[in-house]
Amino acid sequence: MLLKKLLPGDEQLELDTLELGADALILTVHATTPEAQCPVCHHSSRHIHGVYLRKPLDLSRAGFVVRIHWHVRRFKCKDLGCAKITFAEQIPEVIAPYARRTTRLADQQRQVAYIAGGEPGGQLMTSVATPASPDTLLRLIRATPEEDYPTPRVLGVDDWAKRKGQTYGAILVDLERRRPVELLKDRTAATLAAWLLAHPGIEIISRDRGSEMIKGAGDGAPQAIQVADRWHLLKNLREALERFLESKPASLKAAVEKSTEEAVGSDVGSQSLLIDNGMNNLFRSGKISRQRPPKGSKCAKRRNVCVLKPSRLCSQKGLARIKSPGS
Ligand SMILES: [Zn+2]
Repeated sequence: MLLKKLLPGDEQLELDTLELGADALILTVHATTPEAQCPVCHHSSRHIHGVYLRKPLDLSRAGFVVRIHWHVRRFKCKDLGCAKITFAEQIPEVIAPYARRTTRLADQQRQVAYIAGGEPGGQLMTSVATPASPDTLLRLIRATPEEDYPTPRVLGVDDWAKRKGQTYGAILVDLERRRPVELLKDRTAATLAAWLLAHPGIEIISRDRGSEMIKGAGDGAPQAIQVADRWHLLKNLREALERFLESKPASLKAAVEKSTEEAVGSDVGSQSLLIDNGMNNLFRSGKISRQRPPKGSKCAKRRNVCVLKPSRLCSQKGLARIKSPGS
């Protein structure tokens, strides 16, 4: 009973023998059905023409490679008018035609390929005794049928780098379902418009500020409302603020002086100012030196925060030392 359960498709296949080799477990099986159906005329036949052997891999067991030895029967079609003279029995839910692995092993390898990719996935599969080359894993991904998505109501359009800095396409995302729906080969207006015309019903398009995207969205979905995405809204706001502040240097200087005076008047502000003054004195005296931490490191992030709010990050002991640099 246990051995039977080890088989893929235990209802369709029956175990004949089990051999344990040096590094492989070989399960010899045959199909349980007495007849098979012709794939062309769909007539059933029990007339066996011959038998041949298929050796697909299956899921590993206890570190052993498991190979199925399936004696496949070739039947003779009884319909004299059929184009098929003979045909081989098939159990596609267990082993796909011409496949070199069982369906359940292919499912497992496809999952690994999606998660780990080609090279790491190949190494992982070898370590669990179901070897598969990186190319095989990538082929499994490419052979997976694409899911059919409904046309999004709210569509996001943005750049997508095939090769960063060199080749770019456009990625289309269903913003309500939070799923990518298409990768366009380039960022031209014509390509985007063609896709939009083939998928009517989009109500809102969130896009960047590129002229091609604006034109493509207008040509392909003139009824849709075009909005700038959040990142570009914030970028617009930041740039507008920068331009405004650059045009008011006198006001900016006055605001800084006023802010400094107010900070001196408050406890926290005076503490911050004392720390800044104390640190500057230490730098000037040469007792400590400025060292730039590695870019992106936790230390670098903390340093930035420390400049903004030093009083919240320094210990009481350290604070005491910094508050009295001249003593
Ligand atoms: Zn036939």
